[in-house]
Amino acid sequence: MAAAIALVLAIALAAPLTAREDTDVDPIRLDDVPYQPHPLPESLRASFAEEHYGDQLQETAVGALVWSHFPVTVYFDGNAPETWQSQMMSVVEQWGEYLPLQQIEESERANIVIWQRRPPPRRVGDDFRAAAARVSYELYWREQRLGHRFEILLSPTQGTEAAQAALRHELGHALGIWGHSDRPTDVMYYSQVRRPPMISARDLATLRYVYEQPTRLGWPIRPDSAGWPTEDSFETVSKDT
Ligand SMILES: [Zn+2]
Repeated sequence: MAAAIALVLAIALAAPLTAREDTDVDPIRLDDVPYQPHPLPESLRASFAEEHYGDQLQETAVGALVWSHFPVTVYFDGNAPETWQSQMMSVVEQWGEYLPLQQIEESERANIVIWQRRPPPRRVGDDFRAAAARVSYELYWREQRLGHRFEILLSPTQGTEAAQAALRHELGHALGIWGHSDRPTDVMYYSQVRRPPMISARDLATLRYVYEQPTRLGWPIRPDSAGWPTEDSFETVSKDT
């Protein structure tokens, strides 16, 4: 996995780089970015429980998918009905108690963008099934730092409560929980349940655990590294549930 992404990175960055002087510039490697935890956000210090499901989360090539600059900015689909936007905003506010989140009006600048749009069908074995929601992230370079950005698609075909439950779950991914719980009482349970749970103590303890993990996101590239980042995005990773 890490090797595959490093390869994509090398290909994507080798072409558009502006060579300074007359020499070719070596492609940037993820190893050129420090790998260490950020300070734990103040708002997560109280979220402590004995139990969490951090050991069930997936590894990514860049480490933990944590935010290190707050507030995390969120954009809602401007073409969606205002009632939908305010219903979804109430879900953002639920997570906002634990990490500073702020709604903004420009999609380009937002850390997390939320569209009321049908996700592409999901492949299950030989079949395709309609998906209620999809979350994906993209990595990019900006100001010599490796950054990330999340996109959430919420199908307009679902009712308010289901859409809110889906967003509550997808926001958990977008805030850093890249994986699932094995308990139906957690928001990050891997399957939809009839009575969608609210954010649990286990969800919060897991979120805190994630923010204590090392990452390459948000750290400036080592100044002595051979490559030099461009603004180009080079990797998108999707998750269907
Ligand atoms: Zn999920």
